[in-house]
Amino acid sequence: MNDLRYQVDYLTAMNKRLSDSEKMYRMVCDMSSCAYLYYNYKDGQITLLGNWQAFFPLEIKHIQDMERIFDYIEEEDVEKLGAILHRETPSVEKLCCECKLRGKKQWLECETVIGLDADKEPCSKVIKFRDISRFKQQNDELTYMAYYDMLTGLYNRNYFVGRLTEWIERAKKEKSVISVMFIDIDDFRKVNDGLGMLMGDELVQLFGQFLGTFCSENVMVSHFNSDTYCIAIYDPCGSRNVDGIYRMIQERIQSPFVLSGRQEIEITVCVGVAEFPESASSAIELLNNAEIVLFKAKSIGSNEIQYFDAPIIHDFLHHVQIENMLKGAMSQKQFSLFYQPQYDVESGKLRGVEALIRWRDENGKQISPAEFIPIAEKNGSIVSIGAWVVEEALRTYAEWRDKYGVHLIMSINISAIQYKRKDFVSNVISLMEKYEIHANEIEFEITESVLIDDFVEVIEKMNLLREYGVRVSLDDFGTGFSSLSYLKGLPIDTLKIDKSFIDTVITDDSTRIITESIVSMVKKLGFETVAEGVETEAQYEYLKDIHCDNIQGFYLGKPMPKDEVEQILTSQI
Ligand code: C2E
Ligand code: MG
Ligand code: MG
Repeated sequence: MNDLRYQVDYLTAMNKRLSDSEKMYRMVCDMSSCAYLYYNYKDGQITLLGNWQAFFPLEIKHIQDMERIFDYIEEEDVEKLGAILHRETPSVEKLCCECKLRGKKQWLECETVIGLDADKEPCSKVIKFRDISRFKQQNDELTYMAYYDMLTGLYNRNYFVGRLTEWIERAKKEKSVISVMFIDIDDFRKVNDGLGMLMGDELVQLFGQFLGTFCSENVMVSHFNSDTYCIAIYDPCGSRNVDGIYRMIQERIQSPFVLSGRQEIEITVCVGVAEFPESASSAIELLNNAEIVLFKAKSIGSNEIQYFDAPIIHDFLHHVQIENMLKGAMSQKQFSLFYQPQYDVESGKLRGVEALIRWRDENGKQISPAEFIPIAEKNGSIVSIGAWVVEEALRTYAEWRDKYGVHLIMSINISAIQYKRKDFVSNVISLMEKYEIHANEIEFEITESVLIDDFVEVIEKMNLLREYGVRVSLDDFGTGFSSLSYLKGLPIDTLKIDKSFIDTVITDDSTRIITESIVSMVKKLGFETVAEGVETEAQYEYLKDIHCDNIQGFYLGKPMPKDEVEQILTSQI
Protein backbone atom coordinates (compact mmCIF):
# COMPACT_ATOMS: atom_id res chain seq x y z
CA MET A 1 0.00 0.00 0.00
CA ASN A 2 2.74 2.33 1.01
CA ASP A 3 4.53 1.39 -2.13
CA LEU A 4 1.50 2.29 -4.28
CA ARG A 5 1.08 5.57 -2.45
CA TYR A 6 4.72 6.34 -2.99
CA GLN A 7 4.36 5.70 -6.74
CA VAL A 8 1.28 7.95 -7.02
CA ASP A 9 3.09 10.73 -5.18
CA TYR A 10 6.11 10.25 -7.37
CA LEU A 11 4.00 10.43 -10.58
CA THR A 12 2.15 13.52 -9.35
CA ALA A 13 5.44 15.20 -8.57
CA MET A 14 6.83 14.24 -12.01
CA ASN A 15 3.68 15.56 -13.73
CA LYS A 16 3.95 18.83 -11.91
CA ARG A 17 7.58 19.12 -12.88
CA LEU A 18 6.71 18.39 -16.47
CA SER A 19 3.87 20.91 -16.63
CA ASP A 20 6.11 23.47 -14.88
CA SER A 21 8.85 23.03 -17.41
CA GLU A 22 6.32 23.12 -20.31
CA LYS A 23 4.95 26.36 -18.87
CA MET A 24 8.49 27.69 -18.64
CA TYR A 25 9.29 26.80 -22.27
CA ARG A 26 5.98 28.23 -23.47
CA MET A 27 6.67 31.46 -21.62
CA VAL A 28 10.17 31.66 -23.08
CA CYS A 29 8.80 31.01 -26.60
CA ASP A 30 5.99 33.53 -26.14
CA MET A 31 8.50 36.16 -25.07
CA SER A 32 10.51 35.60 -28.23
CA SER A 33 9.75 37.54 -31.41
CA CYS A 34 10.28 34.30 -33.36
CA ALA A 35 7.71 31.64 -34.25
CA TYR A 36 8.29 27.93 -33.54
CA LEU A 37 6.72 24.82 -35.00
CA TYR A 38 7.18 21.69 -32.88
CA TYR A 39 6.48 18.34 -34.55
CA ASN A 40 6.17 15.07 -32.67
CA TYR A 41 6.97 12.10 -34.94
CA LYS A 42 5.13 9.63 -32.73
CA ASP A 43 1.63 11.06 -33.02
CA GLY A 44 2.14 13.36 -36.03
CA GLN A 45 0.93 16.28 -33.93
CA ILE A 46 2.17 19.84 -34.38
CA THR A 47 2.37 22.49 -31.70
CA LEU A 48 2.74 26.15 -32.65
CA LEU A 49 4.62 28.38 -30.25
CA GLY A 50 5.91 31.92 -29.97
CA ASN A 51 4.97 34.77 -32.29
CA TRP A 52 3.32 32.47 -34.83
CA GLN A 53 0.29 34.60 -35.73
CA ALA A 54 2.51 37.57 -36.62
CA PHE A 55 3.88 35.61 -39.59
CA PHE A 56 1.23 33.01 -40.48
CA PRO A 57 -2.42 33.65 -39.60
CA LEU A 58 -3.31 29.95 -39.58
CA GLU A 59 -3.58 27.01 -37.20
CA ILE A 60 -1.73 23.79 -37.96
CA LYS A 61 -2.32 20.75 -35.80
CA HIS A 62 -1.22 17.85 -37.93
CA ILE A 63 1.78 17.17 -40.12
CA GLN A 64 -0.43 16.80 -43.22
CA ASP A 65 -1.39 20.47 -42.93
CA MET A 66 2.15 21.73 -42.65
CA GLU A 67 2.42 22.65 -46.34
CA ARG A 68 -0.35 25.23 -45.87
CA ILE A 69 2.54 27.49 -44.83
CA PHE A 70 3.54 27.65 -48.52
CA ASP A 71 0.40 29.73 -49.25
CA TYR A 72 2.02 32.55 -47.32
CA ILE A 73 5.43 32.38 -48.98
CA GLU A 74 6.54 33.90 -52.31
CA GLU A 75 6.43 31.32 -55.10
CA GLU A 76 10.18 31.40 -55.80
CA ASP A 77 11.02 30.62 -52.14
CA VAL A 78 8.66 27.64 -51.73
CA GLU A 79 11.13 25.03 -52.89
CA LYS A 80 13.93 25.97 -50.52
CA LEU A 81 11.50 26.29 -47.59
CA GLY A 82 10.12 22.83 -48.48
CA ALA A 83 13.61 21.39 -48.12
CA ILE A 84 13.78 22.75 -44.57
CA LEU A 85 10.28 21.68 -43.53
CA HIS A 86 10.68 18.16 -44.86
CA ARG A 87 14.15 17.57 -43.63
CA GLU A 88 14.39 14.27 -41.79
CA THR A 89 18.06 13.68 -41.21
CA PRO A 90 19.92 15.48 -38.45
CA SER A 91 23.20 17.18 -39.30
CA VAL A 92 25.86 18.98 -37.34
CA GLU A 93 25.32 22.10 -39.39
CA LYS A 94 22.18 24.13 -39.02
CA LEU A 95 20.00 23.95 -42.09
CA CYS A 96 18.53 27.33 -42.84
CA CYS A 97 17.04 29.44 -45.64
CA GLU A 98 15.63 32.90 -46.26
CA CYS A 99 12.15 33.41 -47.69
CA LYS A 100 9.82 36.30 -48.29
CA LEU A 101 6.23 36.50 -47.10
CA ARG A 102 3.86 36.61 -50.07
CA GLY A 103 2.82 40.16 -51.02
CA LYS A 104 4.68 41.68 -48.06
CA LYS A 105 8.05 43.31 -47.51
CA GLN A 106 8.76 40.92 -44.64
CA TRP A 107 11.67 38.47 -44.86
CA LEU A 108 11.93 35.36 -42.67
CA GLU A 109 14.84 33.18 -41.82
CA CYS A 110 13.78 29.57 -41.38
CA GLU A 111 15.91 27.07 -39.48
CA THR A 112 15.37 23.50 -38.26
CA VAL A 113 16.67 21.14 -35.57
CA ILE A 114 15.84 17.41 -35.33
CA GLY A 115 15.71 15.57 -31.98
CA LEU A 116 16.77 11.88 -31.78
CA ASP A 117 15.51 9.06 -29.47
CA ALA A 118 17.62 6.47 -27.63
CA ASP A 119 18.03 4.49 -30.88
CA LYS A 120 19.23 7.62 -32.64
CA GLU A 121 16.04 7.79 -34.71
CA PRO A 122 14.33 11.17 -35.31
CA CYS A 123 11.53 11.67 -32.80
CA SER A 124 10.88 15.42 -32.86
CA LYS A 125 11.55 18.46 -35.00
CA VAL A 126 11.57 22.21 -34.28
CA ILE A 127 11.34 24.77 -37.07
CA LYS A 128 12.10 28.34 -36.14
CA PHE A 129 11.00 31.41 -38.14
CA ARG A 130 12.77 34.69 -37.45
CA ASP A 131 11.96 38.12 -38.91
CA ILE A 132 15.08 39.37 -40.71
CA SER A 133 13.47 42.24 -42.68
CA ARG A 134 15.56 44.96 -41.02
CA PHE A 135 18.79 43.12 -41.60
CA LYS A 136 17.75 42.44 -45.20
CA GLN A 137 17.01 46.11 -45.81
CA GLN A 138 20.36 47.19 -44.39
CA ASN A 139 22.00 44.57 -46.52
CA ASP A 140 20.18 45.83 -49.62
CA GLU A 141 21.30 49.37 -48.83
CA LEU A 142 24.89 48.24 -48.46
CA THR A 143 24.65 46.28 -51.72
CA TYR A 144 23.23 49.36 -53.45
CA MET A 145 26.07 51.46 -52.11
CA ALA A 146 28.57 48.87 -53.32
CA TYR A 147 27.22 48.99 -56.88
CA TYR A 148 25.62 52.37 -57.41
CA ASP A 149 26.42 56.03 -57.04
CA MET A 150 24.01 57.64 -54.57
CA LEU A 151 23.75 60.95 -56.45
CA THR A 152 22.94 59.73 -59.96
CA GLY A 153 21.80 56.13 -59.47
CA LEU A 154 24.38 55.10 -62.09
CA TYR A 155 27.01 52.42 -61.48
CA ASN A 156 29.78 53.64 -59.23
CA ARG A 157 33.38 53.61 -60.37
CA ASN A 158 34.43 50.41 -58.54
CA TYR A 159 31.56 48.31 -59.77
CA PHE A 160 31.88 49.68 -63.30
CA VAL A 161 35.59 48.83 -63.40
CA GLY A 162 34.82 45.33 -62.11
CA ARG A 163 32.18 44.72 -64.74
CA LEU A 164 34.32 46.22 -67.48
CA THR A 165 37.05 43.76 -66.49
CA GLU A 166 34.52 40.93 -66.96
CA TRP A 167 33.47 42.37 -70.30
CA ILE A 168 37.09 42.49 -71.47
CA GLU A 169 37.54 38.81 -70.59
CA ARG A 170 34.37 38.01 -72.50
CA ALA A 171 35.41 40.17 -75.46
CA LYS A 172 38.76 38.34 -75.62
CA LYS A 173 36.92 35.02 -76.03
CA GLU A 174 34.27 36.37 -78.38
CA LYS A 175 36.71 38.56 -80.32
CA SER A 176 34.44 41.56 -79.69
CA VAL A 177 35.09 45.28 -79.41
CA ILE A 178 34.38 47.49 -76.39
CA SER A 179 34.18 51.26 -76.75
CA VAL A 180 34.66 53.52 -73.76
CA MET A 181 33.58 57.17 -73.67
CA PHE A 182 34.85 59.43 -70.90
CA ILE A 183 32.54 62.44 -70.60
CA ASP A 184 33.23 65.61 -68.66
CA ILE A 185 31.11 68.74 -68.28
CA ASP A 186 33.01 71.85 -69.44
CA ASP A 187 33.66 74.59 -66.91
CA PHE A 188 31.80 72.71 -64.20
CA ARG A 189 33.73 74.67 -61.57
CA LYS A 190 31.93 77.80 -62.71
CA VAL A 191 28.57 76.19 -61.86
CA ASN A 192 29.86 75.03 -58.48
CA ASP A 193 31.50 78.35 -57.67
CA GLY A 194 28.71 80.49 -59.09
CA LEU A 195 25.61 78.63 -57.91
CA GLY A 196 26.94 76.53 -55.05
CA MET A 197 27.74 72.87 -54.57
CA LEU A 198 24.12 71.78 -54.10
CA MET A 199 23.11 73.09 -57.49
CA GLY A 200 26.27 71.64 -58.96
CA ASP A 201 25.19 68.28 -57.52
CA GLU A 202 21.74 68.69 -59.03
CA LEU A 203 23.21 69.33 -62.46
CA VAL A 204 25.45 66.26 -62.10
CA GLN A 205 22.35 64.29 -61.13
CA LEU A 206 20.22 65.53 -64.06
CA PHE A 207 22.92 64.96 -66.65
CA GLY A 208 23.67 61.55 -65.07
CA GLN A 209 20.01 60.60 -65.28
CA PHE A 210 20.01 61.55 -68.95
CA LEU A 211 23.11 59.43 -69.60
CA GLY A 212 21.40 56.62 -67.67
CA THR A 213 18.84 56.36 -70.49
CA PHE A 214 21.57 54.77 -72.65
CA CYS A 215 21.85 51.82 -70.23
CA SER A 216 21.02 48.46 -71.72
CA GLU A 217 22.34 44.94 -71.71
CA ASN A 218 25.36 46.04 -73.72
CA VAL A 219 25.76 49.63 -72.52
CA MET A 220 26.98 50.47 -69.02
CA VAL A 221 26.94 53.99 -67.66
CA SER A 222 28.86 55.11 -64.62
CA HIS A 223 29.34 58.30 -62.62
CA PHE A 224 33.07 58.37 -61.97
CA ASN A 225 33.50 61.46 -59.85
CA SER A 226 32.45 65.10 -59.70
CA ASP A 227 31.36 65.91 -63.28
CA THR A 228 32.95 62.92 -64.99
CA TYR A 229 31.00 59.99 -66.40
CA CYS A 230 31.98 56.90 -68.31
CA ILE A 231 30.04 54.85 -70.82
CA ALA A 232 31.14 51.42 -72.01
CA ILE A 233 29.59 49.82 -75.07
CA TYR A 234 30.00 46.09 -75.67
CA ASP A 235 30.21 45.17 -79.31
CA PRO A 236 29.09 48.55 -80.69
CA CYS A 237 26.76 48.28 -83.66
CA GLY A 238 23.75 50.00 -85.22
CA SER A 239 22.96 53.22 -83.36
CA ARG A 240 24.53 51.71 -80.24
CA ASN A 241 27.96 53.12 -80.95
CA VAL A 242 30.09 56.07 -79.87
CA ASP A 243 28.96 58.38 -82.68
CA GLY A 244 25.28 57.57 -82.13
CA ILE A 245 25.50 58.23 -78.38
CA TYR A 246 27.60 61.35 -78.93
CA ARG A 247 25.00 62.68 -81.37
CA MET A 248 22.22 62.12 -78.84
CA ILE A 249 24.24 63.85 -76.12
CA GLN A 250 24.79 66.80 -78.45
CA GLU A 251 21.06 66.95 -79.22
CA ARG A 252 20.18 66.91 -75.51
CA ILE A 253 22.59 69.68 -74.53
CA GLN A 254 21.10 72.00 -77.15
CA SER A 255 18.48 72.76 -74.49
CA PRO A 256 19.26 73.70 -70.88
CA PHE A 257 18.92 71.52 -67.79
CA VAL A 258 16.31 72.95 -65.44
CA LEU A 259 17.12 72.72 -61.74
CA SER A 260 14.50 72.47 -58.98
CA GLY A 261 14.87 76.19 -58.26
CA ARG A 262 13.98 76.79 -61.97
CA GLN A 263 17.54 77.88 -62.85
CA GLU A 264 18.33 76.92 -66.39
CA ILE A 265 21.85 75.72 -67.06
CA GLU A 266 23.29 75.16 -70.49
CA ILE A 267 26.26 72.88 -70.71
CA THR A 268 28.80 71.59 -73.18
CA VAL A 269 30.85 68.45 -72.70
CA CYS A 270 34.17 67.05 -73.79
CA VAL A 271 34.48 63.37 -74.64
CA GLY A 272 37.51 61.07 -74.81
CA VAL A 273 37.11 57.78 -76.65
CA ALA A 274 39.21 54.61 -76.52
CA GLU A 275 38.51 51.10 -77.73
CA PHE A 276 39.39 47.55 -76.75
CA PRO A 277 41.41 45.82 -78.19
CA GLU A 278 42.77 48.59 -80.44
CA SER A 279 43.93 50.98 -77.72
CA ALA A 280 44.31 48.84 -74.59
CA SER A 281 44.48 45.28 -73.31
CA SER A 282 42.95 45.69 -69.85
CA ALA A 283 40.08 47.60 -68.27
CA ILE A 284 42.39 49.92 -66.35
CA GLU A 285 44.49 50.68 -69.42
CA LEU A 286 41.37 51.29 -71.48
CA LEU A 287 39.96 53.71 -68.92
CA ASN A 288 43.31 55.45 -68.42
CA ASN A 289 43.70 55.95 -72.15
CA ALA A 290 40.16 57.24 -72.58
CA GLU A 291 40.79 59.68 -69.71
CA ILE A 292 44.07 60.89 -71.22
CA VAL A 293 42.32 61.41 -74.54
CA LEU A 294 39.66 63.36 -72.66
CA PHE A 295 42.37 65.65 -71.20
CA LYS A 296 43.55 66.24 -74.74
CA ALA A 297 40.00 67.13 -75.84
CA LYS A 298 39.77 69.56 -72.90
CA SER A 299 43.06 71.18 -73.82
CA ILE A 300 41.73 71.90 -77.31
CA GLY A 301 38.64 73.66 -76.02
CA SER A 302 35.05 73.08 -74.98
CA ASN A 303 32.55 70.73 -76.64
CA GLU A 304 35.28 68.59 -78.18
CA ILE A 305 35.41 64.88 -78.87
CA GLN A 306 38.79 63.23 -79.19
CA TYR A 307 39.47 59.68 -80.33
CA PHE A 308 42.35 57.52 -79.15
CA ASP A 309 45.59 58.20 -80.93
CA ALA A 310 48.86 56.61 -79.76
CA PRO A 311 50.92 59.87 -79.93
CA ILE A 312 48.47 61.56 -77.53
CA ILE A 313 49.12 58.88 -74.91
CA HIS A 314 52.86 58.99 -75.59
CA ASP A 315 52.95 62.80 -75.21
CA PHE A 316 50.91 62.64 -72.03
CA LEU A 317 53.11 60.01 -70.42
CA HIS A 318 56.21 61.93 -71.45
CA HIS A 319 54.70 65.09 -69.99
CA VAL A 320 53.97 63.31 -66.68
CA GLN A 321 57.49 61.86 -66.65
CA ILE A 322 59.05 65.30 -67.15
CA GLU A 323 56.78 66.78 -64.52
CA ASN A 324 57.95 64.16 -62.01
CA MET A 325 61.59 64.60 -62.94
CA LEU A 326 61.29 68.39 -62.58
CA LYS A 327 60.41 67.98 -58.90
CA GLY A 328 63.91 67.05 -57.84
CA ALA A 329 65.82 68.87 -60.59
CA MET A 330 66.34 72.13 -58.74
CA SER A 331 67.47 70.64 -55.42
CA GLN A 332 69.79 68.23 -57.27
CA LYS A 333 71.36 71.17 -59.13
CA GLN A 334 70.60 69.69 -62.54
CA PHE A 335 70.16 73.09 -64.19
CA SER A 336 72.86 75.24 -65.72
CA LEU A 337 72.98 78.29 -67.95
CA PHE A 338 74.44 78.50 -71.44
CA TYR A 339 74.97 81.79 -73.18
CA GLN A 340 74.57 82.56 -76.86
CA PRO A 341 76.42 85.58 -78.24
CA GLN A 342 74.67 88.40 -80.06
CA TYR A 343 76.79 90.58 -82.36
CA ASP A 344 76.38 94.13 -83.51
CA VAL A 345 76.36 93.95 -87.32
CA GLU A 346 77.92 97.35 -87.97
CA SER A 347 80.85 97.10 -85.59
CA GLY A 348 81.12 93.30 -85.51
CA LYS A 349 81.43 93.61 -81.73
CA LEU A 350 79.78 91.47 -79.11
CA ARG A 351 76.53 93.17 -78.15
CA GLY A 352 75.73 90.76 -75.35
CA VAL A 353 74.56 87.23 -74.66
CA GLU A 354 71.23 85.50 -74.22
CA ALA A 355 71.08 83.24 -71.16
CA LEU A 356 69.51 79.90 -72.07
CA ILE A 357 68.75 77.27 -69.49
CA ARG A 358 70.08 73.73 -69.84
CA TRP A 359 68.83 70.68 -67.96
CA ARG A 360 70.71 67.42 -67.58
CA ASP A 361 68.59 64.80 -65.79
CA GLU A 362 70.04 62.36 -63.24
CA ASN A 363 71.14 60.04 -66.05
CA GLY A 364 72.98 62.86 -67.75
CA LYS A 365 70.42 63.18 -70.54
CA GLN A 366 69.79 66.70 -71.89
CA ILE A 367 66.17 67.83 -71.96
CA SER A 368 65.43 70.80 -74.20
CA PRO A 369 63.96 73.95 -72.64
CA ALA A 370 61.49 74.04 -75.53
CA GLU A 371 60.14 70.81 -74.05
CA PHE A 372 60.25 71.38 -70.30
CA ILE A 373 59.64 75.14 -69.98
CA PRO A 374 55.99 74.87 -71.14
CA ILE A 375 55.47 72.04 -68.62
CA ALA A 376 57.13 74.06 -65.84
CA GLU A 377 54.85 76.96 -66.79
CA LYS A 378 51.80 74.75 -66.48
CA ASN A 379 52.64 73.34 -63.07
CA GLY A 380 54.06 76.56 -61.67
CA SER A 381 57.62 75.34 -61.10
CA ILE A 382 58.79 77.99 -63.58
CA VAL A 383 58.59 80.48 -60.71
CA SER A 384 61.47 78.92 -58.81
CA ILE A 385 63.33 77.88 -61.97
CA GLY A 386 62.95 81.40 -63.40
CA ALA A 387 64.12 83.01 -60.16
CA TRP A 388 67.21 80.81 -60.23
CA VAL A 389 67.87 81.78 -63.89
CA VAL A 390 67.65 85.51 -63.10
CA GLU A 391 70.01 85.31 -60.12
CA GLU A 392 72.48 82.98 -61.87
CA ALA A 393 72.58 85.24 -64.96
CA LEU A 394 73.07 88.40 -62.86
CA ARG A 395 75.74 86.76 -60.71
CA THR A 396 77.62 85.59 -63.81
CA TYR A 397 77.32 88.98 -65.43
CA ALA A 398 78.74 90.69 -62.32
CA GLU A 399 81.63 88.22 -62.31
CA TRP A 400 82.47 88.95 -65.99
CA ARG A 401 82.22 92.67 -65.44
CA ASP A 402 84.59 92.50 -62.49
CA LYS A 403 86.99 90.12 -64.21
CA TYR A 404 87.02 91.51 -67.76
CA GLY A 405 85.73 95.05 -67.27
CA VAL A 406 83.17 94.52 -70.04
CA HIS A 407 79.82 96.19 -70.41
CA LEU A 408 77.48 93.97 -72.38
CA ILE A 409 73.80 93.18 -72.41
CA MET A 410 72.63 90.11 -70.56
CA SER A 411 69.34 88.94 -72.11
CA ILE A 412 67.17 86.76 -69.89
CA ASN A 413 63.99 84.94 -70.97
CA ILE A 414 61.10 85.61 -68.62
CA SER A 415 57.88 83.66 -68.75
CA ALA A 416 54.37 85.02 -68.29
CA ILE A 417 53.92 83.26 -64.95
CA GLN A 418 56.96 85.09 -63.56
CA TYR A 419 55.60 88.46 -64.66
CA LYS A 420 52.31 87.76 -62.95
CA ARG A 421 53.98 87.35 -59.55
CA LYS A 422 53.43 90.40 -57.35
CA ASP A 423 57.02 90.44 -56.09
CA PHE A 424 58.63 90.02 -59.54
CA VAL A 425 59.78 93.62 -60.05
CA SER A 426 60.94 94.16 -56.48
CA ASN A 427 62.88 90.88 -56.50
CA VAL A 428 64.65 91.83 -59.73
CA ILE A 429 65.52 95.25 -58.38
CA SER A 430 66.95 93.88 -55.15
CA LEU A 431 69.05 91.34 -57.08
CA MET A 432 70.45 94.09 -59.31
CA GLU A 433 71.34 96.02 -56.16
CA LYS A 434 72.91 92.94 -54.61
CA TYR A 435 75.23 92.43 -57.61
CA GLU A 436 75.59 96.19 -58.31
CA ILE A 437 74.44 95.87 -61.89
CA HIS A 438 73.35 98.80 -64.06
CA ALA A 439 69.78 98.18 -65.09
CA ASN A 440 70.47 99.03 -68.75
CA GLU A 441 72.86 96.09 -68.98
CA ILE A 442 69.96 93.72 -68.39
CA GLU A 443 67.36 92.86 -71.00
CA PHE A 444 64.24 90.82 -70.31
CA GLU A 445 62.89 88.82 -73.24
CA ILE A 446 59.19 88.21 -73.31
CA THR A 447 57.07 86.54 -75.95
CA GLU A 448 53.91 87.90 -77.49
CA SER A 449 51.77 85.27 -75.75
CA VAL A 450 52.61 86.98 -72.44
CA LEU A 451 51.00 90.15 -73.75
CA ILE A 452 47.94 88.44 -75.17
CA ASP A 453 47.04 86.75 -71.89
CA ASP A 454 47.38 89.64 -69.45
CA PHE A 455 48.06 92.75 -71.45
CA VAL A 456 47.36 95.48 -68.88
CA GLU A 457 49.13 93.81 -65.96
CA VAL A 458 52.23 92.91 -67.97
CA ILE A 459 52.49 96.34 -69.61
CA GLU A 460 52.35 97.87 -66.13
CA LYS A 461 55.26 95.71 -64.97
CA MET A 462 57.22 96.37 -68.17
CA ASN A 463 56.79 100.10 -67.62
CA LEU A 464 58.00 99.79 -64.03
CA LEU A 465 61.08 97.85 -65.13
CA ARG A 466 61.84 100.32 -67.92
CA GLU A 467 61.49 103.25 -65.54
CA TYR A 468 64.19 101.59 -63.54
CA GLY A 469 66.29 101.29 -66.71
CA VAL A 470 65.90 97.61 -67.55
CA ARG A 471 65.61 96.86 -71.28
CA VAL A 472 62.66 94.89 -72.56
CA SER A 473 62.79 92.81 -75.70
CA LEU A 474 59.95 91.20 -77.67
CA ASP A 475 61.05 87.63 -78.44
CA ASP A 476 59.99 85.36 -81.31
CA PHE A 477 58.36 88.18 -83.26
CA GLY A 478 56.48 86.71 -86.20
CA THR A 479 55.21 83.55 -84.53
CA GLY A 480 52.20 84.96 -82.72
CA PHE A 481 49.90 87.90 -83.19
CA SER A 482 52.67 89.78 -85.02
CA SER A 483 50.90 92.93 -86.04
CA LEU A 484 53.22 95.82 -86.68
CA SER A 485 50.54 98.31 -85.74
CA TYR A 486 50.25 97.07 -82.17
CA LEU A 487 54.00 97.49 -81.63
CA LYS A 488 53.46 101.24 -81.59
CA GLY A 489 52.33 101.53 -78.00
CA LEU A 490 54.48 98.80 -76.52
CA PRO A 491 57.07 99.67 -73.88
CA ILE A 492 59.91 97.74 -75.52
CA ASP A 493 63.49 98.50 -76.56
CA THR A 494 64.31 95.56 -78.78
CA LEU A 495 62.51 93.29 -81.21
CA LYS A 496 63.78 89.82 -82.01
CA ILE A 497 62.81 88.55 -85.46
CA ASP A 498 62.01 84.87 -85.15
CA LYS A 499 64.12 82.17 -86.72
CA SER A 500 61.17 81.04 -88.87
CA PHE A 501 61.57 84.27 -90.92
CA ILE A 502 65.32 83.97 -91.13
CA ASP A 503 65.06 80.35 -92.31
CA THR A 504 63.41 81.31 -95.59
CA VAL A 505 64.60 84.85 -96.02
CA ILE A 506 66.97 83.87 -98.82
CA THR A 507 64.68 81.46 -100.60
CA ASP A 508 61.27 83.07 -100.30
CA ASP A 509 60.45 86.44 -101.87
CA SER A 510 57.51 87.29 -99.64
CA THR A 511 59.45 86.49 -96.43
CA ARG A 512 62.11 88.85 -97.69
CA ILE A 513 59.61 91.62 -98.29
CA ILE A 514 58.09 91.13 -94.83
CA THR A 515 61.48 90.99 -93.10
CA GLU A 516 62.62 94.17 -94.84
CA SER A 517 59.50 96.03 -93.84
CA ILE A 518 59.75 94.77 -90.24
CA VAL A 519 63.34 95.98 -89.95
CA SER A 520 62.65 99.42 -91.44
CA MET A 521 59.40 99.95 -89.54
CA VAL A 522 60.91 98.83 -86.24
CA LYS A 523 63.83 101.16 -86.73
CA LYS A 524 61.42 104.03 -87.33
CA LEU A 525 59.64 103.16 -84.09
CA GLY A 526 63.00 103.51 -82.37
CA PHE A 527 63.55 99.88 -81.41
CA GLU A 528 66.68 97.84 -81.87
CA THR A 529 66.43 94.69 -84.01
CA VAL A 530 67.97 91.28 -83.35
CA ALA A 531 67.71 88.54 -85.95
CA GLU A 532 67.51 85.09 -84.32
CA GLY A 533 68.64 81.75 -85.70
CA VAL A 534 71.05 83.03 -88.33
CA GLU A 535 72.79 79.93 -89.64
CA THR A 536 74.43 80.89 -92.92
CA GLU A 537 76.71 83.50 -94.34
CA ALA A 538 74.07 84.35 -96.97
CA GLN A 539 71.51 85.10 -94.25
CA TYR A 540 74.08 87.15 -92.35
CA GLU A 541 75.06 89.21 -95.40
CA TYR A 542 71.46 89.80 -96.35
CA LEU A 543 70.53 90.97 -92.83
CA LYS A 544 73.54 93.25 -92.82
CA ASP A 545 72.40 94.73 -96.15
CA ILE A 546 68.94 95.56 -94.84
CA HIS A 547 70.50 97.15 -91.71
CA CYS A 548 69.32 94.71 -89.10
CA ASP A 549 71.13 95.87 -85.94
CA ASN A 550 72.17 92.61 -84.30
CA ILE A 551 72.64 88.98 -85.22
CA GLN A 552 72.28 85.89 -83.07
CA GLY A 553 72.62 82.38 -84.43
CA PHE A 554 74.72 79.31 -84.98
CA TYR A 555 76.59 81.07 -87.77
CA LEU A 556 78.24 83.36 -85.24
CA GLY A 557 78.05 81.19 -82.15
CA LYS A 558 75.97 78.47 -80.55
CA PRO A 559 74.78 78.67 -76.96
CA MET A 560 77.88 77.85 -74.90
CA PRO A 561 78.91 77.31 -71.28
CA LYS A 562 80.25 80.16 -69.18
CA ASP A 563 83.96 79.36 -69.66
CA GLU A 564 83.65 79.45 -73.47
CA VAL A 565 82.08 82.90 -73.25
CA GLU A 566 85.05 83.86 -71.08
CA GLN A 567 87.41 82.90 -73.89
CA ILE A 568 85.57 85.30 -76.21
CA LEU A 569 85.67 87.99 -73.55
CA THR A 570 89.41 87.47 -73.13
CA SER A 571 89.96 87.89 -76.87
CA GLN A 572 87.83 91.04 -76.92
CA ILE A 573 89.86 92.85 -74.21
P1 C2E B 1 64.32 81.55 -77.49
O1 C2E B 1 64.27 82.46 -76.34
O2 C2E B 1 63.71 82.04 -78.76
O3 C2E B 1 65.79 81.11 -77.67
C1 C2E B 1 66.39 80.88 -78.89
C2 C2E B 1 66.44 79.44 -79.19
O4 C2E B 1 66.90 79.22 -80.49
C3 C2E B 1 67.43 78.69 -78.30
O5 C2E B 1 66.93 77.37 -78.12
C4 C2E B 1 68.67 78.64 -79.14
O6 C2E B 1 69.53 77.60 -78.81
C5 C2E B 1 68.08 78.45 -80.50
N1 C2E B 1 68.93 78.95 -81.55
C6 C2E B 1 69.66 80.09 -81.54
N2 C2E B 1 70.30 80.24 -82.72
C7 C2E B 1 69.96 79.17 -83.50
C8 C2E B 1 70.29 78.77 -84.82
O7 C2E B 1 71.03 79.40 -85.54
N3 C2E B 1 69.72 77.61 -85.27
C9 C2E B 1 68.90 76.87 -84.50
N4 C2E B 1 68.39 75.76 -85.00
N5 C2E B 1 68.57 77.24 -83.25
C10 C2E B 1 69.08 78.38 -82.75
P2 C2E B 1 66.85 76.71 -76.71
O8 C2E B 1 68.02 77.08 -75.89
O9 C2E B 1 66.57 75.28 -76.94
O10 C2E B 1 65.61 77.40 -76.06
C11 C2E B 1 64.36 77.22 -76.54
C12 C2E B 1 63.38 78.15 -75.90
O11 C2E B 1 63.23 77.83 -74.52
C13 C2E B 1 63.84 79.59 -75.90
O12 C2E B 1 63.55 80.17 -77.12
C14 C2E B 1 63.01 80.17 -74.78
O13 C2E B 1 61.73 80.46 -75.22
C15 C2E B 1 62.97 79.01 -73.82
N6 C2E B 1 63.96 79.21 -72.75
C16 C2E B 1 65.26 78.89 -72.76
N7 C2E B 1 65.84 79.24 -71.60
C17 C2E B 1 64.87 79.81 -70.84
C18 C2E B 1 64.81 80.38 -69.52
O14 C2E B 1 65.81 80.48 -68.81
N8 C2E B 1 63.59 80.86 -69.10
C19 C2E B 1 62.49 80.79 -69.87
N9 C2E B 1 61.33 81.27 -69.36
N10 C2E B 1 62.50 80.27 -71.10
C20 C2E B 1 63.68 79.78 -71.58
MG1 MG C 1 64.75 84.28 -76.08
MG1 MG D 1 63.31 83.51 -79.68
